[in-house]
Amino acid sequence: MKRIAVLGSTGSIGRAALEVIRHLGPAYRVCALSANSSWELLAEQVREFRPKRVVIGDERHAEAMRRRIVERGGRRGVPAILLGREGLEEVAASSEADIVLLAVMGAAGLPAALAAVNAGKTLAIANKEPLVMAGDLLMRLARKTGARILPVDSEHSGVMQAMRSGAWKEVRRIVITASGGPFYKLPPEKIRNATKAQALAHPTWKMGDKITIDSATMMNKALEIIEAKWLFDLRPDQIEVVIHPQSIVHAIVEFCDGAMVAQVSVPDMKVPIQFALTYPERLDGVANSIDLAATSALTFIAPDDEKFPALKLGYQAARQGGTMGAVLSAANEVAVAAFLKDRLHFGGIVDTVSRVMASHRPARRPTLNDIFEADRWAREEAEKVIIQSCSVV
Ligand code: MG
Repeated sequence: MKRIAVLGSTGSIGRAALEVIRHLGPAYRVCALSANSSWELLAEQVREFRPKRVVIGDERHAEAMRRRIVERGGRRGVPAILLGREGLEEVAASSEADIVLLAVMGAAGLPAALAAVNAGKTLAIANKEPLVMAGDLLMRLARKTGARILPVDSEHSGVMQAMRSGAWKEVRRIVITASGGPFYKLPPEKIRNATKAQALAHPTWKMGDKITIDSATMMNKALEIIEAKWLFDLRPDQIEVVIHPQSIVHAIVEFCDGAMVAQVSVPDMKVPIQFALTYPERLDGVANSIDLAATSALTFIAPDDEKFPALKLGYQAARQGGTMGAVLSAANEVAVAAFLKDRLHFGGIVDTVSRVMASHRPARRPTLNDIFEADRWAREEAEKVIIQSCSVV
């Protein structure tokens, strides 16, 4: 039996993970769940999956949730309730969990990722930020403790699957695909002035708001370039991004003899989630298969730098390493939040990140403190840049 801690269980990835676990049956058990503030949904999940422990953002929500669980199922159904960051770290490192599925939003996932890797767990990582911010630290720690880090991000899962066709030293390069979001056909000026409604209307994937905006700016691919560099120990020039609007080829690995192996599946996060949970085995899946004959032509388009300047920033952060990934990610979180609150125009998101990166000197071989300090600095700096650009408008 595999026992799984699903951290971030009320978000879109967390909910999909619970669907996969429900499908996989009794050989997979949920030992812990967590949410930041969605205590009502968390209480429902507790009723179905009966975890021993849950983590919730703060005491107020904890009390409301405790009452709800008692109302519906009596005192015996109440798990131990832990709070916030320490709660996540405790659950991630706990001996109860074989696999920690990390789907916590943003930088908040990093301490839990480190705790899981430090405890030698299998970390199924859906949350990009820990690797982007601290990939060097996490991978070094994993080598020391024997922890296994398995990507849940669909492109990286695709790379991991395709890599099983050859040896690591035979890999020439990898290609990760981007849907292109809603804007890849528009001219650069139209993209810069896109509205919130346009940016939130993603053509193929249904995801949370932050990730949908990252997909429209292609900052998600910038994050994925950095993520891939650390996960697969590649040079940035071995990582290519192509736009593939059908979103069924997720990644391609090219080997040294020129052979390419692609991973193809429906655009459904349940596929990479399940592969990470059942790894190294494959089990019957919940997702549909693809009717190739009914599929339209598959297209691959080189992304235009002028339309998607975020990609260059991703390569820059991957090349410079150190704290630059943390700075890119933090500045982007602040800029996306400002855009979602109508404080920034669409083009201002990547401009803000670019300006913050330009004034940062990355620390080499950063410690966790250096990373948190860079994250804090970048958030402040991004806020300054946004206030300045508001006063210009
Ligand atoms: Mg992805």
